[in-house]
Amino acid sequence: MSDPLASLRTRLDDLDRRLIDALAERQRVVTEVAALKADPALPLRDVERERELLARVSALAGEQGLDSYFVESIYRGILEHSVRFQAARQSNDAGGAGLVVAYQGVEGSYSHTAARSHFAAAQGAVQYHGYRSFTAALEAVTRGDAEVAFLPIENSLTGSITETYDLLSQANLHLVGEEVHRVQHCLLALKPVPLGLIRRIGSHPQALAQCRTFLEALQDCRVEIEDDTASAAMLVAESGDLSRGAIASEEAAARYGLQVIKRNVANQKENYTRFVAIAREAQSADHRLPHKTSLLLTTAHEQGALARCLDALAQHGVNLTKLESRPSSERPWQYLFYLDHEGGLHEPQVDLALRELTKHAQAVRILGSYPRSGAGTPAGTEEASAPSSESTAAVPAAEISKAPPAAKNDSAYRLASRAHHAADTVVEIGTVRIGGDAPFAMIAGPCSVESREQITACARAVRDGGGGLLRGGCFKPRTSTYDFQGLGFEALTLLHEAAHAYALHTVTEVLHPADVDAVAREADVLQIGARNMQNFALLKAVGRSRLPVLLKRGLMASIDEWLAAAEYVMAEGNARVILCERGIRTFETATRNTLDLSAVPVLRERTHLPVIVDPSHAAGRREWVAPLARAARAVGAHGVMIEIHPDPDSALSDGPQSLDLDQFRTLAREFAA
Ligand code: PEP
Ligand code: MN
Repeated sequence: MSDPLASLRTRLDDLDRRLIDALAERQRVVTEVAALKADPALPLRDVERERELLARVSALAGEQGLDSYFVESIYRGILEHSVRFQAARQSNDAGGAGLVVAYQGVEGSYSHTAARSHFAAAQGAVQYHGYRSFTAALEAVTRGDAEVAFLPIENSLTGSITETYDLLSQANLHLVGEEVHRVQHCLLALKPVPLGLIRRIGSHPQALAQCRTFLEALQDCRVEIEDDTASAAMLVAESGDLSRGAIASEEAAARYGLQVIKRNVANQKENYTRFVAIAREAQSADHRLPHKTSLLLTTAHEQGALARCLDALAQHGVNLTKLESRPSSERPWQYLFYLDHEGGLHEPQVDLALRELTKHAQAVRILGSYPRSGAGTPAGTEEASAPSSESTAAVPAAEISKAPPAAKNDSAYRLASRAHHAADTVVEIGTVRIGGDAPFAMIAGPCSVESREQITACARAVRDGGGGLLRGGCFKPRTSTYDFQGLGFEALTLLHEAAHAYALHTVTEVLHPADVDAVAREADVLQIGARNMQNFALLKAVGRSRLPVLLKRGLMASIDEWLAAAEYVMAEGNARVILCERGIRTFETATRNTLDLSAVPVLRERTHLPVIVDPSHAAGRREWVAPLARAARAVGAHGVMIEIHPDPDSALSDGPQSLDLDQFRTLAREFAA
């Protein structure tokens, strides 16, 4: 009798072969498309078509009972590769047979992974050779052992990698490409041991610096410098020592047979490194791709010399993206300036700007002109555009009474008072703006983050609804200790990942002062729940964080007590407070709480802070959420926060008041219309 598992696996093997056949067939068609696009009159990318394609495959996936997020993310990868593949076919210099790329480190290091991503679509086979140092990788190019060196040049947390800059000034090489690579540091060890058992942690100094907050909080643990992140992982694997750890990528864990003990250990969740590709000769890439240019210049030692050079760019509308200065190796107190700007040398305004700049500089060297990183990113994976519809703007400020506030200067709220700050405060969270004349904000998400599938489905609905902020409880303040308390930090990671996939930002509640730093590393807005409105230690702790704070009104709090609570946050130096009316306790029991809509105009008179309304916790029943949300907008709220769930009846908390995703999409459409 045949083994049923073996026969199922044979069927899977067959299906996988067909998937690969289909991908290969797709690539052959893309090759023909690329040949047609040799006509420079045709655009290299069709963003609209990419958007339609993603929507179409997502709908097809839904019809077949597949998770549409899963299918969409696969297609984003396919599209990104297709765009890179076509671009690579437009340039004559790219690749050919056997491109050799030199990088610093060993396989599985971030340099290696980023290089593989950068050259994934190159023509012909690509070989990757790891070298001990940046210098050794560059020498390989100078000698002709490699065509390209691929080196990190800056990191979004720790700034410039000065060694690369200094090497660029010395060697007569050219920048031919860049790659911005997302870095996700993990703590790796041999076995899934508790964190407290790790005694030694090794990594590259850059990675250690990016994880400083996490490392400093560890007790009795030695930090050791290694050549690169993957070498550190390799050493742990070879040592057989359970008390050793390495900070490296998840890919390095898989490559060296290690376990991920903790994900996201960097000081901030968004961590990117920019790499540059360096070659002996300058190369020209397809001009239809957006370009960037890098220069190295020295100026005379006289007043305004650098300013005149920069002004030459500004005069011609050329946008500067980076300016770095490094000491000259030849003369003390002389500096070399490295400058990156948008646009390629083939563009007329860039040409004019550089001619002008040259007049004011002592010496200018063009390091290279190359396609910008992300030029091959398919539509929909870039930053979400800001909510667009002007008609959804809150009640114009002019309609709001600006009568002198009731509060005097000795009141409990000075910083929060309009007397202190007459203009409306607008809180910016990435591309989302809340307050003043910003468009009406739509924050939505589940009461609690329950699973990856649940939060991802919600994120998708929020994106579809044009909302920029995803809410989700990770630590839940429940009236009964026997009720679901939230999934904690695990939920926080799921929330962040779902939001990142749809270019959204996150709001989540923090319950304890000791958790503020850890939550702030992954969330974008810290929520203080109604039950904690007067937890002064917690208010001070969030006041010391750099994140905006969404302060809910306490169940029994007066408006002045609420503003006094906001003052606790502001007095610590954090002015980015958003107030959220969520219903108060009255004698009425028909609704869960009584939504105090009159608080909105009162607040808009007394404070400059943005005011939003949570109709879900007020009503307690989903049928009443939409009418109360409309009313909130009518009385001048700057936005609403709404609870949603893919299957409200099975929600682990607050199901009865949660809209299902279709109900939410309908409401969001109405608000956007
Ligand atoms: C919430 O928003 O998940 C919540 C617990 O709300 P509140 O603090 O208003 O009860
Ligand atoms: Mn809730």
